[in-house]
Amino acid sequence: MVDFLNLQTVNAQYAEQLKQACARVIDSGWYLQGNELVDFENAFANYCGCKHAVGVANGLDALTLVLRAWIEMGWLKEGDEVIVPANTYIASVLAITESRLTPVFVEPDPLTFNLSLENVSEAITPRSKVIMAVHLYGQLAPMPELVTLAKQHDLLVLEDSAQAHGAMVDDKKAGAWGDASGFSFYPGKNLGALGDGGAVTTNNDELANVLRALRNYGSHQKYLNKYKGMNSRLDEIQAAMLSVKLAHLDDEIAARRSVASYYREHIENPLVTLPVCDDESSHVWHLFVIRCDNRERLQAHLASKGVQSLIHYPTPPHQQDAYAEFNHLSFPLTESIHQQVLSLPMGATLSRDDLKLVVNAVNSFSLI
Ligand SMILES: *Cc1c(COP(=O)(O)O)cnc(C)c1O
Repeated sequence: MVDFLNLQTVNAQYAEQLKQACARVIDSGWYLQGNELVDFENAFANYCGCKHAVGVANGLDALTLVLRAWIEMGWLKEGDEVIVPANTYIASVLAITESRLTPVFVEPDPLTFNLSLENVSEAITPRSKVIMAVHLYGQLAPMPELVTLAKQHDLLVLEDSAQAHGAMVDDKKAGAWGDASGFSFYPGKNLGALGDGGAVTTNNDELANVLRALRNYGSHQKYLNKYKGMNSRLDEIQAAMLSVKLAHLDDEIAARRSVASYYREHIENPLVTLPVCDDESSHVWHLFVIRCDNRERLQAHLASKGVQSLIHYPTPPHQQDAYAEFNHLSFPLTESIHQQVLSLPMGATLSRDDLKLVVNAVNSFSLI
């Protein structure tokens, strides 16, 4: 049996270090907003090549708080439009609507499933204020081009880097391209905590400062509240776990890349389309997503061969019950993507035998 992702195996690699770090926090008697947080924020900002990292409770809050902060700073106001790929995970959209901004969905590039420059250009109106660039499945959106386009139209760029820690183009990583970037440390993400966690990266001092207040009731100084903030903090234990795991992130990414290249070399089935990636450093393979017209049958076939696969994602945001106001919209490419995608097991702990089993299972799929 090959699991899609076995978190026990993932964290067992670092068990001793994780337990030591955990004991250090327990013994310290200090559990929120302390040195572990500061150390991790500095290490993560440094890793991303950014001036600031601000730890928060999860990835959704990271994105939501950036938009809230820009409203507090007077850079955005209610009703402003945020351009977002229609095929993203729903959290990207929740962050927009939570701040009473208007999502403007665009169809993705048909090869990479990331933002299409052409479709973003066409979606720009006088009310557009932000491009939300989601680095879906771990592959950077076309950032040099998007940043140029944003400058031409005076738009802000918010990266949703929840799946793309360490992905890089032109020596610049996810998190360093936009005006701000939201990261998730959900346990299954490439840099995963042992619980929830998230962070914002930015080079803007004012934004970092506002975010540090917003995550803590809107307060810089205890009992003095400048904003109507939230409670969205990255606790000391999770920060300590993340510092341990950040040191191994580049090794994990290298291992994911070798899994991806093994799959891309050995999977050969005319019924299956492999993911497209032209620039190796731009992709950290959070997910290895294949496409198949007979996805449900392929998934059942893989299961019968002992290979677990998942669907990211079965229903696009505009078709969810939660977004009844967008249910009338039609995005044919996005809808076909959601009907065809299937994610194969991916991770640094897969063995050569696991990979062979997966490849044989995919290659032996047929409709007869
Ligand atoms: C995981 C994810 C999020 C949300 O992160 P959480 O930590 O689960 O809140 C946002 N956007 C994308 C693309 C994600 O994959």
